[in-house]
Amino acid sequence: MEMNQIFAENLNKGEILSEYLVKAEAYKNSIQKFEGDMVSFKNFTKNRRELKTRQISLPGYKNTMCKACSSLCHEHCGLAETNGQVGHPELKSCACMSGDCCNVCKHSYSYHYHHSSIEVKTESYYEDFVDIDFQTKANYDNAKTAKEAKFTELKKVETEVEEKQKELEKIYEKLALVNKEIKRMSLQPHNDAYLDYLKVELKKLKDSDCDPNEKANLMKMLEKKEKDYILKKKMIEEAEKANKN
Ligand SMILES: [Zn+2]
Ligand SMILES: [Zn+2]
Ligand SMILES: [Zn+2]
Repeated sequence: MEMNQIFAENLNKGEILSEYLVKAEAYKNSIQKFEGDMVSFKNFTKNRRELKTRQISLPGYKNTMCKACSSLCHEHCGLAETNGQVGHPELKSCACMSGDCCNVCKHSYSYHYHHSSIEVKTESYYEDFVDIDFQTKANYDNAKTAKEAKFTELKKVETEVEEKQKELEKIYEKLALVNKEIKRMSLQPHNDAYLDYLKVELKKLKDSDCDPNEKANLMKMLEKKEKDYILKKKMIEEAEKANKN
């Protein structure tokens, strides 16, 4: 019979779909939890500004010196840069000179040169730092990795849900085609009297004092019948619903 064949091949598909849906829900919850963790741990860096000092060398002032007698003939000479060249013509204009001769040491300008002092200054400045709280960062990274993993799982299970839903739709279509038959059949095994009957049988079996192994087998069989009945009923209901829509 066509319907029984449909049942035989597809009875567990609704259950599988439910399992996938439960899984998807669990993944969604996990993702939400990990996203919450990411928010909690996102501030793992802290900006810090520190006032620091450093020493810098600055070109200081120029002194006009005599190479012949090592005399310091003009301190803080304001002349243009002579690059330390001895006898630079510019030095003729140094304040210590009268004509080509030095008033201080009496030597010719040609022995003179500029010696530049170096001034060492202490300068303060701000330096910006980014401090990382590694424990918090590790927590953040872990939550992010876990979230991404769950997201991948969710996508996978969502694909499976979609496939199963499509499969079920096709099954419902098939069932709808034999809708008349379903109605006829529903007068017999697919009504709740059948379920009541199974329950009575189960109870009878429980109370009976037959061989425990045999009893266990029979119980299993009856429980499977009960389960199958519930699944069939559900599937027919779904098919009727799908057919109406
Ligand atoms: Zn000078
Ligand atoms: Zn001199
Ligand atoms: Zn001099």
